[in-house]
Amino acid sequence: MLQELKEGRANCVIVKDLSRLGRDYIETGKYIEKVFPSMGVRFIAINDHVDSLRKDQADEIIIPFKNLINDSYCRELSNKLRNQFRIQRQNGEFIANFAFYGYMRSPEDKHQLIIDEAAAEIVKLIFAKKIEGYSLDKIAMYLNQYGVPSPCEYKKKNGSNYVCAFKERSQSLWGAASVRRILTNRIYLGYLEQGKMSSPNYKIKKLKAKDEEDWVIVKDAHEAIITEDCFQVVQKLLSRDTQTVPGRDTVYPLSGMFFCGDCHESMTRYKSKRRDKYFQYYICSGNKHKRGCASNHSIDVDKMHEKVLNAIKLQISMVVEMEELRKMYGNQAIINIKVKRIDELLEQNRIEVNKQQEFRMKLYENKVDGIITHEEYLSMKQRYTDKIASLQKIISELEQERTEILDSSELNCSWMQKFIENRNVTELDRQLVVTLIDKIEIFEDKSIEITFNFKDEFLLMREYLLKASEDQERAKEVRHA
Ligand SMILES: [Zn+2]
Repeated sequence: MLQELKEGRANCVIVKDLSRLGRDYIETGKYIEKVFPSMGVRFIAINDHVDSLRKDQADEIIIPFKNLINDSYCRELSNKLRNQFRIQRQNGEFIANFAFYGYMRSPEDKHQLIIDEAAAEIVKLIFAKKIEGYSLDKIAMYLNQYGVPSPCEYKKKNGSNYVCAFKERSQSLWGAASVRRILTNRIYLGYLEQGKMSSPNYKIKKLKAKDEEDWVIVKDAHEAIITEDCFQVVQKLLSRDTQTVPGRDTVYPLSGMFFCGDCHESMTRYKSKRRDKYFQYYICSGNKHKRGCASNHSIDVDKMHEKVLNAIKLQISMVVEMEELRKMYGNQAIINIKVKRIDELLEQNRIEVNKQQEFRMKLYENKVDGIITHEEYLSMKQRYTDKIASLQKIISELEQERTEILDSSELNCSWMQKFIENRNVTELDRQLVVTLIDKIEIFEDKSIEITFNFKDEFLLMREYLLKASEDQERAKEVRHA
């Protein structure tokens, strides 16, 4: 049995009683306390009501062995400390032994992070450079060139006992890895993510990475340095490989934005010379690498730029128009529509939950009547139960959204400003493109489809405004009648 566990062919041990595991209590205790947790094996003793997965029982397992284990005091202390850490984490208090670059511990409360203005400026600069189209390497070079101390150097200068993971040089410089760590860290959104690693219990020092769902993430734990929108744009850019313009530090304005509409591969930029003139064009990389598309979907770069610029201008003018309508109808009218819409969705979901619950009940009758087998009953019952749980999750999210809208009594449409502030745009630049555009798809017939950022917000706002105009029309009719 141990062999199978070691080879990972089994991950759960079930015994009738604890005594079945071994005659020797000390030896048995060793497996339950050390061996199984370190291998991630679940242990169940049916008659003793022991299940290692149930956290509230973790101590009960120990009871039969308690007087045999002389280090129980040590364990209790360890548990107490772990619980204390957990409580602090859930409160959003900072417990790691060094602050993250951009933040420092509050002098009044060492568990609270506050912004370190000097470093925070550098964090903002790094995000801005990425959006401008700089690669990770170029950002690192830029920072080193201007003598900006790297996070490790900065800590050293500030007399912190921070231990740097990359100490290959006596003076550590910025590198692509340290820039990436900053660009991907959600701490800058005001989130505190802790408890990513844990040791199964106090006897095992080895740390194990925990599943993301077990992390303790606290939002609004401290002041954010970067906005959510900006962070999301950067994550998208990091996931797309982009070519930099030869001889320059930045990428082409539309780099990483083009995708083949037919095979969904990225489009790559190429240059060719015809009659002493250079032509630049994009082609489907799926076709280039002999997978997916049969044709190369080749499209001229300059023509593309013009089309994209026109599309951006059109989109901006629509948002400007929406903004005027929004002001005309007033925020309150739109908030009312929003709440009404959520109420409708809530109603629909509640009806659906009732329906699923009825199905689940009928299922039992079907089983009793012998229409379905016991196995079919169990698997279908599980499916209905899952469905009901996911509907209930949607309902509670909608309820929360509803409360938030009513509590704030303000309309968050900061996304509209991003379009409006570019209303006089005359040429494409990287910042404009990545702020407003999600992706551009090119189809075989050379038609293009541009997906703008905030597409959902745009469609919703349009819906609200249409509804507001309908309501107003109706009010007028009533008055006339
Ligand atoms: Zn393709």
